[in-house]
Amino acid sequence: MPIYEYQCQDCGRVFSKLSRSVQRSDESSTIPCPECGSENTRRIVSNVAVLDGLGGLTPGERAAENKFYEKQAGILPKSKIDEFRKAKKGK
Ligand SMILES: [Zn+2]
Repeated sequence: MPIYEYQCQDCGRVFSKLSRSVQRSDESSTIPCPECGSENTRRIVSNVAVLDGLGGLTPGERAAENKFYEKQAGILPKSKIDEFRKAKKGK
């Protein structure tokens, strides 16, 4: 189950909430602040791994992949990088 992080826009309190489902509607529903009870909260982007259910990469994996390509770009010719990318896509 994904864990989402929220921040209260009134008191600034950051809290996390375990999502009971992966339904999209869950993302837009309002979660009241546990500190002051305000409903003026919003989900914040964190490094919590949330799979999108479509086989996509988590934000962490995406960052790692970008770093990987950056590193490769420094020691390999561009044609080799393209090969890597193609191989990855064909997965
Ligand atoms: Zn609050």
